[in-house]
Amino acid sequence: MAAKTIIQGVYEEVLKRNPGEVEFHQAVKEVLDSLEPVLDKHPEYVEARILDRIVEPERQLMFRVPWQDDKGNIQVNRGFRFEFNSALGPYKGGLRFHPTVNAGILKFLGFEQIFKNSLTTLPMGGGKGGSDFDPKGKSDNEVMRFCQSFMTELFRHIGPNTDVPAGDIGVGGREIGFMFGQYKRLRNEFTGVLTGKALNWGGSLIRPEATGYGCVYFAEEMLKTRGESFKGKICTVSGSGNVAQYTVEKLNQLGAKAVTLSDSNGTIHDPNGIDAEKLAFVLELKNIRRGRIKEYADKYKVQYLDGKRPWGIKCDCAFPSATQNEVNEEDAKTLLKNGCMLVAEGANMPSTPEAIEQYLEKKILYGPAKAANAGGVATSGLEMSQNAMMMSWSREEVDKKLHNIMIAIHKQCFDAAEEYGEPGNLMMGANIAGFVKVADAMLDQGVV
Ligand code: NDP
Repeated sequence: MAAKTIIQGVYEEVLKRNPGEVEFHQAVKEVLDSLEPVLDKHPEYVEARILDRIVEPERQLMFRVPWQDDKGNIQVNRGFRFEFNSALGPYKGGLRFHPTVNAGILKFLGFEQIFKNSLTTLPMGGGKGGSDFDPKGKSDNEVMRFCQSFMTELFRHIGPNTDVPAGDIGVGGREIGFMFGQYKRLRNEFTGVLTGKALNWGGSLIRPEATGYGCVYFAEEMLKTRGESFKGKICTVSGSGNVAQYTVEKLNQLGAKAVTLSDSNGTIHDPNGIDAEKLAFVLELKNIRRGRIKEYADKYKVQYLDGKRPWGIKCDCAFPSATQNEVNEEDAKTLLKNGCMLVAEGANMPSTPEAIEQYLEKKILYGPAKAANAGGVATSGLEMSQNAMMMSWSREEVDKKLHNIMIAIHKQCFDAAEEYGEPGNLMMGANIAGFVKVADAMLDQGVV
């Protein structure tokens, strides 16, 4: 049977088995559409039905998370963990706490994670989890009670050699701390079962910075292929959370000028650049006071675009770092019209398929999420290694390893794109390079 027909059949089965889960469908389609030349070259993958197996999570967990708010009222949320693929190592991937969380969102993230983790070259399988709990507006005590209840169920399914969750949207150092505390209490064990831990109890230097730094390192490699650098480049960044913050920091260090940040309420535009001092204000605003980005505009007297995303602002490079599908076709057209020459995805699947078509058609530099934002999980992998060895590496050591991993990921994507006849198409390169390693491991491990 022709590869195209096989792919179509697998996709139709995904639609049938996962009704209404549109983000999952979108993520699967993007990967499957890249794999035609791979199936042509490797009939053994077809024979072993690797595609049919890889789109089905190995295990799906869904559970009740009851907790008490500060007024003594009982609240009920839903918890999830999708253990997608363990061919390369223990399941690994973040936990997201956001009211929009549902099975479809987490399946798309878990599926992406398989290939992303494969690209890092570290021994990690793919998984993702979370809850529809909204930490916004909750007291620290409420967040703690929720995290404890969440872990009271999750603990029996995870472990340092089984499944090692990390943070994602709504899950930062505070939440990881509360969940680790409860895991330790239930298991009576101090192990590296979560990554993103604080430095003084098993965390890794550079983990908070890793996704943002890694994305900029990856983008730097992309620029180099066209003889360019970040010097003097105007960059737009969306979001103002973990990924966005450290994207801005690394852009500043490399001589670029980051001019925007956003949150779900709006965007700030600072044409003079978000320098180190202003970024320190953002970190305090977002990570400690947990306020809105509009306060930046009030403090530094810059433009605030209420309800808007940053893509209408002229830039050389764009770094979507907030959430899925935040750049649509119109946004992409505007970016291109304004001369944008690079899009590097800090967030997961931030560009719609129509937006990606625009990037590819105009042949701008496009760094897809599963490659460009893999620095976070790669450094989580380094945290796991340090935990297992009961030692910790210096900031410089971890940063150097992260930088080398991002260079290696770029090379894998670049080379795979060339090998399979689409030079420069890093999306296709990332999908293929990530897939082949997992597929080979699945073949080796038999029908499991
Ligand atoms: P944070 O929770 O730290 O920050 C998220 C930011 O995005 C906030 O500014 C938030 O604004 C904004 N945002 C979230 N949802 C929406 C929405 N629906 N519309 C508009 N803005 C929104 O999360 P991270 O920085 O950790 O994650 C950002 C992205 O990066 C996600 O796609 C995540 O999956 C991805 N990622 C994160 C990694 C990590 O290591 N943390 C690793 C790899 C990818 P508001 O406060 O108003 O909600």
